[in-house]
Amino acid sequence: DLLANKIAAGEVVERPASVIKELLENAVDADSTQIIVEIEQGGLDLIKVADNGIGMEKDDALKAFERHATSKIKTDKDLFRIRTLGFRGEALPSIASVAKVEVKTRTLEANEGTLVKIDGGTLVTHDVCAAKKGTEIAVRDLFYNTPARLKYLKSIQTELGHILDYVNRMALAHPQISFRLYHNGRQVIQTPGDGKLLHAVAAIYGSDIARQMVPVEWETYDYKIEGVAGYPELNRANRNHCSFFINGRFVRSYQMMNAVQSAYHTLLPINRYPVVVLSLTLDPGLVDVNVHPNKLEVRFSEEKDVMTAVQQAVESALKGQTF
Ligand code: ADP
Ligand code: MG
Repeated sequence: DLLANKIAAGEVVERPASVIKELLENAVDADSTQIIVEIEQGGLDLIKVADNGIGMEKDDALKAFERHATSKIKTDKDLFRIRTLGFRGEALPSIASVAKVEVKTRTLEANEGTLVKIDGGTLVTHDVCAAKKGTEIAVRDLFYNTPARLKYLKSIQTELGHILDYVNRMALAHPQISFRLYHNGRQVIQTPGDGKLLHAVAAIYGSDIARQMVPVEWETYDYKIEGVAGYPELNRANRNHCSFFINGRFVRSYQMMNAVQSAYHTLLPINRYPVVVLSLTLDPGLVDVNVHPNKLEVRFSEEKDVMTAVQQAVESALKGQTF
């Protein structure tokens, strides 16, 4: 119902970047290999995400906007075994309750596509249309019907900054997907999507940084740790250059940050942060991602064990490294 959606929107949709986050997660979950994001005015006027993923059938395209209709959680156990990025089934209904949303989608098998239009939570159109395989979702006039929210938005530059952070993270988490971001018609991000993390890092941080990085590859019975580790340039050394992903999901983890810093211990002067992109894969049952939709923290059931593995992974990558 509309009120429930608007309330949920208050939690899920804070600013344009939160819309991007949800739409990108859906595009990734849909097995896309190419994702194009177009925004206008920092996302306030328009956020459009086009993917070449599996698309939706006509009925499903409508169901996607019904609260929890698509929740992937059927039992308590499922909560701890989430393998897709989305699982609550409330992002699209929430977004559609506070914006004007238009979806064009088509599955590989379907002869024609589906168009769904929803304005402020009210269904306007559900019809067939011509469409490419995949899904294109346009979100216009975010918060047009919730003026209190609109008031809290910052400048276009600030909103754009949050969006850039988010698209960058997704591109680093998924080097096998090509990401492009256009702001007011100008291309600001492009990653090749060739599956090579270093190429994604080069596209985002620049090839000078990518060139001096070493690969991290570490596998135990329980954990797989992959990524790249480098030495910070003086003026670029800050915490933001450490990106951590757990089972493909970006997380903030002071524990992982500490483990990485311990590994760099003898190499790094105090107060400098390395450039590190680390991806940790483990049994979803050993990590709790069931936190507030906007919180990025996770909880491990064997935290000490995991952090030892992270530190060892980075130490072994840095062995013999002088920079
Ligand atoms: P969740 O991702 O938590 O399942 P959402 O509200 O984000 O919930 O999306 C609802 C459903 O709509 C998804 O579960 C998926 O089935 C479908 N969907 C959304 N976006 C896409 C997309 N880009 N491609 C294919 N299916 C999609
Ligand atoms: Mg989702």
